[in-house]
Amino acid sequence: MKNLSHIALGLLTLFVFGSGYNEDIAEHAKKLHQSSLLVDGHNDLPWRLREDNDLTLSQHDLMQTQIYNTDIPKLRKGGVGAQFWSVYVPAELMQTGTAAKVTREQIDLVHTMIKKYPDTFELALTAKDIVRIHDTGKIASMIGMEGGHSIENSLETLRDMYARGARYMTMSHSKNLSWIEASTDNPLPVALTDFGKEVVKEMNRIGMFVDISHISARAMREVMKVAQAPVIASHSSAYGLKQHVRNVPDDVLQMVAKNGGVVMVNFYPAFIGKEKSWKPFSALGNNFHIDDCVEEDVNKWRREGRVPTADVGTVVDHIEWIARVAGIDHVGLGSDFDGVPTLPVGMEDVSKFPAITEELVKRGHSDEDIRKILGLNLVRAFEDMEKASGK
Ligand SMILES: [Zn+2]
Repeated sequence: MKNLSHIALGLLTLFVFGSGYNEDIAEHAKKLHQSSLLVDGHNDLPWRLREDNDLTLSQHDLMQTQIYNTDIPKLRKGGVGAQFWSVYVPAELMQTGTAAKVTREQIDLVHTMIKKYPDTFELALTAKDIVRIHDTGKIASMIGMEGGHSIENSLETLRDMYARGARYMTMSHSKNLSWIEASTDNPLPVALTDFGKEVVKEMNRIGMFVDISHISARAMREVMKVAQAPVIASHSSAYGLKQHVRNVPDDVLQMVAKNGGVVMVNFYPAFIGKEKSWKPFSALGNNFHIDDCVEEDVNKWRREGRVPTADVGTVVDHIEWIARVAGIDHVGLGSDFDGVPTLPVGMEDVSKFPAITEELVKRGHSDEDIRKILGLNLVRAFEDMEKASGK
């Protein structure tokens, strides 16, 4: 009898202590998340609005909940402090000579969004802007170009995009350019041509991040050799953990560490998911956005009738991999929300960012390290990138 009551007491203690422990973690993570500056490297809302023919934002009130991964209530719930809005345009527009024109329209769309919601958004052009705007409780809004095709082989156009607010350029999208090799196209004789090197140097000079997401591993290595300022991978994960061409290999992670840059983890299950976890293709529904960089994946899934899955833990596995290989100062978040057809379980939209903080706390990371991952690494790299440009 005595033994039984001891066991009961033990179980009770375990239960109380156990639940109290979890509650502490959840409460601590919540406070840490709310008091941190969260910077996300890549969000495709502007392209979704364009697809829905709403360049003036007259049909979608972002103050109301939308079907998108992103709207203002969800951004607030997710504690987003700063966002790089992607002004992606398809690589095919190179052929019609309209890539720069449509990119300018997408930049205008971001400015329209910022003006329409002045209590929520403010344009950030510098690292200082990010911190200042976040301190006022608004979401610092940056502009990122996705694909070197947007400048149509012109450094003058590159400078014009900078003047309009663009602060990073992903060097390619899904297709090769005449001057750089993409990860999802056929190999080129040279991964980065002399003109490509001029583009990198000019971006360093004017103070725009060189973004190595989407380019081939060979091109990444060439870019890293030329870069004189910190680079970013705005939405790429770890190749060492998941062998997908869109991810960053370990040797490049080490180069990014030396360069002072940041690799911002992409949440897309096809880039991070474990091969063993799948769900039926039918679960995708018909109503999803297909970025052309993933069309191949989607076609494969259609044939196989299943799609890869991931969860918050998978995202954090990639964060930890990059932190281990490159160092804790060189990892960040680059969700790709509104740019991909599937998302990890528990990471379905921008309101779910706090789950990452909670998982990091659960795994024993320090508050200081978590703040770096969430946003401070990007802010530091931004400052260093500006300094390197002489600004
Ligand atoms: Zn992309």
